[in-house]
Amino acid sequence: MAAKRFFRHLLIKTGLSLVFVGASCGFSSAKEGMWLPPNLLQRAADLKAEGLEFPVDMLYNSDGTGLNNAVVLFGRGCTGEVISPNGLILTNHHCGYGSVQRLSSLENDYFAKGFWAMNSSQELPCPGLTVTFIRKMENVSDRILYGISDTMAQATRDSIISIRIEGLEKGYKFTSKLDATIEPYYNGNQYWVILSETYRDVRLVGFPPNGIGVFGGDTDNWMWPRHNGDFSMFRIYAGKNNQPADYNKDNQPYKAKRYFTINTKGYKEGDFTMVYGFPGRTQEYISSYSLQQIEKINDPVNIEVRTAKLKVWEAAMAADRDVFIKYTSKRSGVSNGWKKWQGELRGLELAGVNARKLAYEYDFQAWANGDETTPYADNLLAQIQAVTAKSNDALRADRYIREAVYGVELISQGAVLDKLLQHFREVRKGATKDNTFIEKIKGQWAGFLKNYDAPTDEKLFATLLPIFMEQCPKYVPDWFAQNLRAANGSYARWAKNSFAASVVAHPAAWDKLIAGNADTVTIKNDPAWQLFNAIRNVREARTIPILSTFEERMESLDRLYMAAQMKKDIGKAFYPDANLTLRLAYGHVKGIDPDGPAGYSFQTYIDEIVAKDQPGSEEFSVPQKLKELYAKQDYGRWAIPMKSPENGRKTTVPVAFVADNHTSGGNSGSPVLNAKGELIGINFDRVWDGTMSDLYFDEARCRNISVDIRYVMWVVQKFGGADWLLKEMKFVR
Ligand code: ASP
Repeated sequence: MAAKRFFRHLLIKTGLSLVFVGASCGFSSAKEGMWLPPNLLQRAADLKAEGLEFPVDMLYNSDGTGLNNAVVLFGRGCTGEVISPNGLILTNHHCGYGSVQRLSSLENDYFAKGFWAMNSSQELPCPGLTVTFIRKMENVSDRILYGISDTMAQATRDSIISIRIEGLEKGYKFTSKLDATIEPYYNGNQYWVILSETYRDVRLVGFPPNGIGVFGGDTDNWMWPRHNGDFSMFRIYAGKNNQPADYNKDNQPYKAKRYFTINTKGYKEGDFTMVYGFPGRTQEYISSYSLQQIEKINDPVNIEVRTAKLKVWEAAMAADRDVFIKYTSKRSGVSNGWKKWQGELRGLELAGVNARKLAYEYDFQAWANGDETTPYADNLLAQIQAVTAKSNDALRADRYIREAVYGVELISQGAVLDKLLQHFREVRKGATKDNTFIEKIKGQWAGFLKNYDAPTDEKLFATLLPIFMEQCPKYVPDWFAQNLRAANGSYARWAKNSFAASVVAHPAAWDKLIAGNADTVTIKNDPAWQLFNAIRNVREARTIPILSTFEERMESLDRLYMAAQMKKDIGKAFYPDANLTLRLAYGHVKGIDPDGPAGYSFQTYIDEIVAKDQPGSEEFSVPQKLKELYAKQDYGRWAIPMKSPENGRKTTVPVAFVADNHTSGGNSGSPVLNAKGELIGINFDRVWDGTMSDLYFDEARCRNISVDIRYVMWVVQKFGGADWLLKEMKFVR
């Protein structure tokens, strides 16, 4: 009965006829998919048919010889690749950006000047930066899921699973002497153990100036064609026996058994390519109802708030180089998402993904009603619909709170004050002051202040709080309303009052507070803590309980929906959604003309960089040295013949290219390989509409963008003058 109602609803909602039933949704095709390396053997025939020219077990194996040993998780959200026997690695410029920011100052402005170590003693330690190798992955579903029924209560299921995970991880760590983590796949229908090694001494080797690394800035971000040299170079250092170790000047370069050979010959359109890396998050198998939450709530709220935020930050950064250096890394993170979500919405709309999902759901429901073996599937979609509908209001408010209220650094810093308050309360009750804790908080605060400009944040306060208060009147804490009244309704005055009275904007007052005698009163009177506390109380009472129930229900429903989808199309190869674990995607070099017909090639060239030069502009100013090298056509071995020679020029250097590999955030910095497994580029982006591939892969629109390895090498050698690095690499043609 429920199912019949659901059918009718679908027909009304979509207006689709049965002709559309069966449209694909989240299934694999030759290019779609990010595959688990140990499962590649099952795809051997397809890989070969698409172009792979070497045995699949060289891509991944657990005896140390597979190419998996040349790929690293770089930091906590990017990929890198080893390119020499001495632990030299490449990743993106934007992946190294945060580490370089921590090493930069007005005197050492690496964003303006770039950085090139001229020998290994000049390589710069990057505290906190790590890289992780994946040595082995094993399916442990049987050992995690035995005796657990599909429909067991989610909380019971979770607690059984987490106990088993803990035990099994311990066992694996003990027997392998490696790190072991067990992760869910296919929405919790499978579990895999990942055995890894994390190196903690990673040093900066090369970093082109922003005029190369982020050439094109936000205007070009997520766009094709592209002209930025989005790369940076680091080196892994190891302690005794090549083992991971904390930084020590005596550590030695990591000895790599596997590293990528660099191909200098290039590729042509149609050539087979692979991207090996750590895609962060995709949701290919969600229902139309969850998709609607992204399309109607998450993405639009994020875009609205970040548009306002970026305006404030950018004005302050343009007016003061010091603010620029403090905010450049934070700003890139904010604007990266901001622009991506706009492209995602555009892509979803252009490709009619919602209608495709609904059509698929119609088909799914028909199958579920007739399938005796999956009784739980009958009303799954109706349940998902009900559960999402109930959460929408709280979801929207919480999004505004997280983006707009916590988006003000003064307020988010209230969380640190709150930790201090809890500790001071204990001290006042008789506990001794915990110096380790105090030192840790001091360190965090110092890190925060290094990149903080209170006047900029004050402007942001006056810009973001009105957005929240006007969009979410039902969720405004009384304390906020009172403060605004006390400031005669002026957000600017409220901001001024708050900043004037808070330790967040007064480093000397902060120093006094942390050194003092457990002064709880000062914290409780601080506007940063008061605002943080007021909004936290609203979240705890009004949004978090609803969202936690929602997430728990969805965890279970999404798992069942995934299981049922796999059962329905039992013959198809399903790849699990991305979860920042190692995957291989494969496809072909393939051009695209996003808003065509502009006649874009699948590749860009150095001549186009120079043609785009806008001296003095933040985004498009080409470094002088690059222009000089260009004028002399000093391309060295990286030159290729121009397709149509012009202005007396016969050669050029390729800069970037597009292919149809299925990638996601986290694949930034991934090696892009040819049919022989040689490095031809570094993945760094996707085309704008194509970013919808995190939700739905459309072959016609989705492309990954990579920087050509020959441009990278040209910049290192000719622009950076770091010829010595090339000597440790292996090149083939
Ligand atoms: N530009 C992306 C990143 O920052 C890569 C992508 O999403 O395609 O991870």
